[in-house]
Amino acid sequence: MRTAVTGAAGFIGSHLCGHLLDSGDEVLGIDAMTEYYDPRLKERNLARLRGRAGFTFVRGDLLALPLELLLASADVVYHLAGEPGVRTSWGPQFDVYLRRNVLATQRLLEAARSSPPHKIVYASSSSVYGNAEHYPTPETVRPQPVSPYGVSKLAGEHLCELYRTAFAVPTASLRLFSVYGPRQRPDMAFARLIEAARTGAAFPLYGDGRQTRDFTFVQDVTTAMRQAALSSWTGVANVGGGEQVSMRQVLALVGEFVGPVRIASLPAPPGDARHTGADTTVARDAFGYRPRTGIRAGLAAMVEDAVAEDALLGTRTGATAPPSAAPAGT
Ligand code: NAD
Repeated sequence: MRTAVTGAAGFIGSHLCGHLLDSGDEVLGIDAMTEYYDPRLKERNLARLRGRAGFTFVRGDLLALPLELLLASADVVYHLAGEPGVRTSWGPQFDVYLRRNVLATQRLLEAARSSPPHKIVYASSSSVYGNAEHYPTPETVRPQPVSPYGVSKLAGEHLCELYRTAFAVPTASLRLFSVYGPRQRPDMAFARLIEAARTGAAFPLYGDGRQTRDFTFVQDVTTAMRQAALSSWTGVANVGGGEQVSMRQVLALVGEFVGPVRIASLPAPPGDARHTGADTTVARDAFGYRPRTGIRAGLAAMVEDAVAEDALLGTRTGATAPPSAAPAGT
C-alpha cells in the first residue's frame, strides 16, 4: 500500500508513519515543521523514520505544495497536518487555525477530487462536541464546539463530508479523543505533568481536577487509522480509549510512577470541555476498532519512554523507570 501522511513529523503523525512502515506500507511523509512547539522535537520524531526502507519525506506547507502531483500515486492519504491547541486558538491566532486546519484541508480535498485515492483518513477531534449532551457521546449528537480550535476541526470534517457526498471522495473522519503516549506534544497535559513530577516545577491544574477525559493511547489511534483506511467504510466515527479518567486520577498515577506533583491551581479557562467520553460503536462495527491500552499501562509506557530518552540524550540524572513495563499488545 502506498500512503501519504500529512503532519508526519508531529506526535501522532510520526507514530502513524512507524506503524505503517511496520505493516509493510510505503510512506510519503509531508510536514511544514511549524513552530507551534519546538521544531527540534519534530526532528527527533523524524530521526526515527529517516533511513527506514519505504520512507520518504517532503518538507513543505500544504498551502503551497503541488498536492495533486504529490498525492497522485498514494492509495491512502492520512491527513493529520494541522494547528493543535484549544487554549491558544482564541484571538488573532485564529487566522492560523483557519489556514492550517480549514484551508489546508480544502486544498487537499480539491487535489484529490479528480482522481481520488482509495481513502482519505482525516484526524478530526473530540473537541467538535464541546460540552456534549450525552456521555458516552455518539456521533449523532449535535457538535457544539466550545473553542475556536474545535470550530476549525469541525469545519475540516464538514469539508471531508462535503467532498465525500458531492464528489465521491472517500473520506473517513476519525474524532480522536485526547491522545497520549510516548513523544506526546509538549503542550499537552501528560507531557507537562511528567516533566513537572521529574523537575519539581509546579503543574498548573485548571479547574478542580474532577474534569474527565476519554484518554486514548497513540498506538490504538494509529491502529484505528489504518483499519479505517483498509475498510470500505466512509463517514465519521469516534476513536476513544474506552475509559473516562479524571485529572485527579492521572495525578495519582504520575505520583506513583514518577513522584509527587506540585500543583498550582488555576480557574478553568474558556474552551475546555468539562467531560469527554466516546461511544465507539460506529468504529467497532465499521472497521473493528477496540482500544487495547488502558490508562495505567499507557501512562507507564509514556513515562518509561521519557526516562529512556533522557538517558539516551544525557539530559537528566537520577531518573527512574516506572514499575510496570510497556503495555501488553502495543
Ligand atoms: P502535532 O502538532 O504534533 O502535529 C501536527 C503536524 O502538522 C506538525 O508537525 C506541523 O508541523 C504539521 N503542519 C501543520 N500545518 C501544516 C501545513 N499547513 N502543512 C504541512 N504540515 C503542517 O499535533 P498532533 O497532536 O500530532 O495532532 C495531529 C492531528 O491530530 C492534528 O490535526 C490534530 O488536530 C488532531 N488531533 C490531535 C489530538 C491529540 O490529542 N493530540 C486529538 C484530536 C485530534
